[in-house]
Amino acid sequence: DLLFTEGRVDFQNVCFSYTAGKEILSEVSFTVMPGQTVALVGPSGSGKSTIIRLLFRFYDVQGGCILIDGQDIYKVKQNSLRSYIGVVPQDTVLFNDNIRENIRYGRISASDQEVEEAAVAADIHHKILSFPDGYDTEVGERGLKLSGGEKQRVAIARTILKSPRIILLDEATSALDSQTECNIQASLAKVCANHTTLVVAHRLSTIIKADQILVLHDGRIAEQGRSCST
Ligand code: ATP
Ligand code: MG
Repeated sequence: DLLFTEGRVDFQNVCFSYTAGKEILSEVSFTVMPGQTVALVGPSGSGKSTIIRLLFRFYDVQGGCILIDGQDIYKVKQNSLRSYIGVVPQDTVLFNDNIRENIRYGRISASDQEVEEAAVAADIHHKILSFPDGYDTEVGERGLKLSGGEKQRVAIARTILKSPRIILLDEATSALDSQTECNIQASLAKVCANHTTLVVAHRLSTIIKADQILVLHDGRIAEQGRSCST
């Protein structure tokens, strides 16, 4: 099992390709200190989402290693690794169940009230109430009509409920109106406080709030620094 202590994340010379011969990440090294928020930016296709997927162990690295609190994530049980990590993917896929269970999946012991509080925090509660069956609405082929951004807010509600020690957020590229963006960021700031957070940032407001910014270019860290707003 992974022995979680403080939530430090280290990438050390990580190399990765999906298919032989086409390297996607080349010698990527960086550290996220415990409790820090790091924003990952870079052009489309530069490998940002790949970094998130590797940390959640969707794929194996081909060179270098990824450490959490000094432990190689490929040497611990996948379940124990994933119990400490919450992921909000770029394109959220919901389960074939009702919307309440889709949020509760973050913490199956949560009460209905806690589920709704998480939905309020993720600014998706009102949308859910607009469906005739509310939280009992089934998500399925004929079910919910949610936009990509709305689905992602369901995933954010799930993550708020789970309150994991490490949060991986792959921001949707879809634009949000500024009020929604502001509400979600306030909620996320609450969950992300004291949690180690790696966020693929498409929004300037996210980047400004980060403790550290990593710029990825063609699978390499091209620049690394702090936002100058603080
Ligand atoms: P965006 O900002 O558009 O989300 P990104 O930086 O997140 O881009 P990645 O999704 O990490 O980019 O993809 C990096 C590269 O890997 C791209 O060239 C992409 O085509 C390739 N790639 C991504 N997923 C796969 C896959 N499952 N199989 C093969 N190649 C892939
Ligand atoms: Mg991406």
